[in-house]
Amino acid sequence: MILEKIGLTGRDITTMKVGGSIKKVIFVSNEEGKLLTLLNSMEGNWRLIGKGSNLLIQDAGYEGTLIVFSDESSGYISDRHLVQVSGGLSMEQLSQTFLWLHSTGAEFAKDIPGTVGGSVYMNAGAWGQDISKIFHSAKIWMDGEIKTFSKEDMKFEYRKSILHDLYNPVVFSVFFNLKEDSQDNIKSKMLDFEEKRKKTQPLLSEYPSSGTIIKRKQKEIKEKGLAGYRIGDAMISKLNPGFIVNLGNASSYQVISLINLIQSKVGGDLEVEIL
Ligand SMILES: Cc1cc2nc3c(=O)[nH]c(=O)nc-3n(C[C@H](O)[C@H](O)[C@H](O)COP(=O)(O)OP(=O)(O)OC[C@H]3O[C@@H](n4cnc5c(N)ncnc54)[C@H](O)[C@@H]3O)c2cc1C
Repeated sequence: MILEKIGLTGRDITTMKVGGSIKKVIFVSNEEGKLLTLLNSMEGNWRLIGKGSNLLIQDAGYEGTLIVFSDESSGYISDRHLVQVSGGLSMEQLSQTFLWLHSTGAEFAKDIPGTVGGSVYMNAGAWGQDISKIFHSAKIWMDGEIKTFSKEDMKFEYRKSILHDLYNPVVFSVFFNLKEDSQDNIKSKMLDFEEKRKKTQPLLSEYPSSGTIIKRKQKEIKEKGLAGYRIGDAMISKLNPGFIVNLGNASSYQVISLINLIQSKVGGDLEVEIL
């Protein structure tokens, strides 16, 4: 599938639902080599994104093309030790794939509202598990070629990988290591993680957000009394001060003003990316 759209804004393609107009948005899946053909034809200013769950688009908008890559089918190829999935697969589907394969290690992925590609890019994780712990290798497009990156090549750190330092890398597909466990154990971990999330984080079904905004500063933000602080419709979550939530009509400017306020009080590196 390839679908081109003009007239979309950051509200339409990010989970924070803020931001101005994007010059062009192209929705693509990986079937029949369509993504490769598209990437090889791209010129000018462009970026590839997934579910937009770790992204903010500024109010001034994005003067270029955003390629939105998603593969909703849970197609995979696996042997006893490895499974290969598309970079456009949702993290929810990744966790279900591991469950079907009686394999542990991806339970954390169930409630992360992003794609596998976006999660490899930032080494997403939760509850002591993360992408690097199950990652074997990936096929990554860069400068017109698809190369294989080993786990060592990826230089995974806390919510970071080598991909942050490269120009427009695209995670096509990923091989993950399988580790056998019973489906009962896997399901019970998933349920446990789901319960913890409900108790500790605002869910997207309640408020738009981009997840944790600044790396590992939740405690300090709370101690500074900033939980619940509001600029317009952007608010530092009371339940989890690591999150900024959109109460309805927030602008990107309001969210970024809150980020600046937090950083002026407690410092810290941005976890979310601003385009
Ligand atoms: C409610 C909520 C809860 C969250 N909980 C967690 C959590 O527990 N743990 C966690 O780590 N994160 C969490 N997040 C953040 C987010 O879901 C993850 O960072 C996710 O991995 C981002 O994936 P995405 O597809 O949305 O990426 P996007 O936001 O679309 O893109 C983020 C970056 O990845 C790049 N990218 C996207 N796809 C590809 C690709 N195929 N190839 C190369 N680069 C790519 C983009 O260019 C961009 O630089 C949460 C977010 C929300 C809204």
